[in-house]
Amino acid sequence: MLECEVKNGWVQFVEFIESRCSAAEFSNWIAPIRCIEATYEEVILEVPNIFVQEYLLENFREILADFLPLKGSGEPAIRFVIANTPEKPSFKSQEAIEITPEISSVHLKLNPLYTFDHFIEGSSNQFVKSAAVGVASRPGKSYNPLFIHGGVGLGKTHLLHSIGHYALEHHKNLRVQSITTEAFINDIVDNLRAKSIDKMKKFYRNLDILLIDDIQFLQDRTNFEEEFCNTFETLLNQNKQIVIASDKPPGQLQLSERTVARMEWGLVAHMGVPDLETRVAIIKHKSELKGMNISSQIAFFIAEHIYNNVRQIEGAVNRLCAHSRLEHSNLNKEVVEKILSEMFQSNAPSKKISVETILKSVAAVFELRVADIKGESRHKEIALARQVAMYLAKEMVDESLMKIADSFGGKTHSTLLHAWKKIADQITANETLGRQVQMVRRNIES
Ligand code: ADP
Ligand code: MG
Repeated sequence: MLECEVKNGWVQFVEFIESRCSAAEFSNWIAPIRCIEATYEEVILEVPNIFVQEYLLENFREILADFLPLKGSGEPAIRFVIANTPEKPSFKSQEAIEITPEISSVHLKLNPLYTFDHFIEGSSNQFVKSAAVGVASRPGKSYNPLFIHGGVGLGKTHLLHSIGHYALEHHKNLRVQSITTEAFINDIVDNLRAKSIDKMKKFYRNLDILLIDDIQFLQDRTNFEEEFCNTFETLLNQNKQIVIASDKPPGQLQLSERTVARMEWGLVAHMGVPDLETRVAIIKHKSELKGMNISSQIAFFIAEHIYNNVRQIEGAVNRLCAHSRLEHSNLNKEVVEKILSEMFQSNAPSKKISVETILKSVAAVFELRVADIKGESRHKEIALARQVAMYLAKEMVDESLMKIADSFGGKTHSTLLHAWKKIADQITANETLGRQVQMVRRNIES
C-alpha cells in the first residue's frame, strides 16, 4: 500500500515531465530510469549510468521535491543505484541484426596501418594513447565519451581507427562504426531524401562503439547538430562507447552548450606535438615499414627540420624512399637536404627559442630573478615558476629533453617530464596559472 503510494509519486513525476520536455529528451533521459523501491523515507531509482542521475538532479531537483519524499534538508530523498551492464555487448534484437550488414559495410573503413602497434608513443601522446587503449579494451566502461583533440597530422585519426581495430579483434560481436562528421551529415541527407531516416537512426542507435572523426565540421550545421546530439545521448545512456576526434577542445567549438556539455562529460585528452625523440622513432618506424633503413643521424636530421606535423614527416620518408629506390644510392645528409629542401624551407622555424628566453620571460611574469628560478630553492613560488619554465621549454624549445633538462642547472629528463605533466594538468584547472602561462608564451612569441 505504502510503497504503492510513493511509487505513484514517481509515476506522476514522470507523466508531468513527459508533457514538458521533447520526445528525444524524454526517451534519452527519463524513460531509462526505473523506480525499484519506494518508502515514505526514500525512493530508490535505478539509472543506467551516473550521467542520467546528474541530469535528473540538475534539471528537476525542485520538481522532484514536489512529488517525492523529502530529506530533512528539503532535498528529494532519492537513493540511486547504477544498473548492472552485461559484460558482453548486448545487441541481440532481430531488428538490429537485419539492418546492420548493408550500412556498416559502407562506412567501416579502418585503415589497416592505423593500429596501436604502429602508433609510436612519446610524452606528447602517452596519456591519450592509454585512454584509447582503455576504451578499446572496455568499451563503454571507462571514459565515455573519449574526446581527442589536437593539431593537424598528429595522429588523431590513427588512434581512432586503432580503437576500432582493437575492439573488433577482442570482441568479435561488437558493432563498430567509424565515420567522419562529413559522412555522418551526408548520411542524414541521403536518408532524408530516400525517406529512410528511421532506419538510419535505428542503425546508429544500435551501435556498440561509434568513432566520429573531425567533429569540427559539425560547427555551423545547426540542422544536423540536434540529430547528432540525440544519437549521442542515446548511445551514452546505453553505455555504448563514443570516441570523438577534433582539431579543438570542446569548449572552443562553436556548438550549442548542450552538445559541448555532452562532449565534456567523459575524458577530454589532448594530443600534443611529438618531441624530437618521438619524431625520430616515428621516422625509423615508418621507414622500416617501407623496407628502408634510415640511419639515426639522418632520422635526427629530418626530425630537427620537420617538427609540427607527423603527416609531413611521413611525406618526407616517402620521398626519400622513392628516391633511394630510383637511384640505388645511399642517403647522406647532403642528399637528404637536397631531396627535402622545399619541405624543410616551408617548415623552417621563424626563430629558434632558447631556454634562456623562456627563463627571462617567466621571471618577468612571476616577478622573480632568473638565478632563483635556475637555482635549488624549494620555495613554493619559485618552484612553481621553475616548473612553468620547464613546461614551456618542453613545449617550445626544439632540443632533446636531456639537453633542455640540462639547461635548468643539470636537472634530469624525468624531472622535466614530471614538471611538464604537473603544469599541463594544472593549467586547465587553475585559471590564474593558465593566464600566466599564456602571458609568458605570448611574450616569447612576440
Ligand atoms: P590527424 O587525424 O591528427 O590529422 P592522422 O591520424 O591522419 O592525423 O596522422 C597523420 C599521419 O601521421 C598518419 O599516417 C599516421 O599514421 C601518422 N602518425 C601520427 N602520429 C603518429 C604516431 N604517434 N606514430 C605513428 N604514426 C603516427
Ligand atoms: Mg584526422
